[in-house]
Amino acid sequence: LNRRLASFGTTIFAEMSALAARTGSINLGQGFPDTDGPAQIAEAASRAVLTGLGNQYPPGPGVPELRAAVARHQERFYGLSWDPDAEVLVTAGATEAIAASLLALLEPGDEVVALEPYYDSYAACIAMAGATRVPVTLRPHGGAFALDPDELRAAVTPRTRLLLLNSPHNPTGTVLGPAEIAAIAELAVERDLLVVTDEVYEHLVFEGVHTPLASLPGMRDRTVTISSAGKTFSFTGWKVGWVTAAPELVAAVRSAKQFLTFVSSGPFQYAIAEALDLPDSYYADFRADLAAKRDLLAGGLAAAGFEVFRPQGTYFITTDITPLGEKDGLAFCRSLPERCGVVAIPNQVFYDDRTAGAAHVRWAFCKRTAVLQEAVERLGRLA
Ligand code: PMP
Ligand code: GLN
Repeated sequence: LNRRLASFGTTIFAEMSALAARTGSINLGQGFPDTDGPAQIAEAASRAVLTGLGNQYPPGPGVPELRAAVARHQERFYGLSWDPDAEVLVTAGATEAIAASLLALLEPGDEVVALEPYYDSYAACIAMAGATRVPVTLRPHGGAFALDPDELRAAVTPRTRLLLLNSPHNPTGTVLGPAEIAAIAELAVERDLLVVTDEVYEHLVFEGVHTPLASLPGMRDRTVTISSAGKTFSFTGWKVGWVTAAPELVAAVRSAKQFLTFVSSGPFQYAIAEALDLPDSYYADFRADLAAKRDLLAGGLAAAGFEVFRPQGTYFITTDITPLGEKDGLAFCRSLPERCGVVAIPNQVFYDDRTAGAAHVRWAFCKRTAVLQEAVERLGRLA
């Protein structure tokens, strides 16, 4: 393994899901739903396979039906209009969109300012691009995590090429508010920076609203927006993601993408085109279901003695384990299956400075109510 990747090892998600499988524990670690998305969309995928839609290589930018549906979705929810031919690119999940964007836009030695804790693939992809990450830490503030715009501003140097953002934010559940988004946009314009924004949890906002970075003044032409069907439609295995951006940026990302996967997920692209057109009630019901699950798990974790940071979005809750007399989240997560048959994710692996999130642990609540109830009962025995 080369030096760029040597420090990354195996992802925490693989480690913890394997631990859950080996010990038969309830897996609240890796974020994936235990109930598949709408049957009607699964049927659309199966129909596509059986009628020969997408069984051979789809077009490089994605099938036209899906690109048009992505554009309609951005118009419907945010009033943003994108040309489906020049400004939309389908990718193998958000993961490939992140990799292709960073590989396409960064020169070796460039600096990338990224929110910390960060989703693990950001650090690895910045390293693969030969660039340097400069973390700006979200800090606990009034029961949630907040961005300090002054810290963000201070992190930008003449070598900064782009800002890598994520809201709603994994793992903290923070949703950047209007003031934070405005400060980011102002900084990007002032310092002439590109922005890559990971908005895969765009429909999982329980408090406040999701504001796409691309919708702010001066941002449309400097922003690469990334989303994914995995989160919104509960089909994480299908790996259908997409990028929306100005034509030159989409063309750049496509240059990298064509040598990563070339294309992927043919029949699933047709099914997700249908999913994006589901009525508003689908999106509202999905959000309401998860909001109730958030409350159930947050209540259970608090009752079990954890300090709970209440998420405004995503399907994750971050907790502090200090009140339980614990201080190392990684050791805690490795011992948890034996102690009570539950698996979680230690946030410290999402930091450059591991002391910052050392005592924080993340729990996924995209699980059936009965499973969450059982998890809460088991966690209640920890004390
Ligand atoms: N970004 C974030 C913040 C995520 O949480 C995830 C999924 N875990 C991804 C990207 C990857 O999405 P996909 O499964 O579509 O590749
Ligand atoms: N995004 C999911 C999470 O944060 C997992 C994705 C993965 O396994 N790479 O849990």
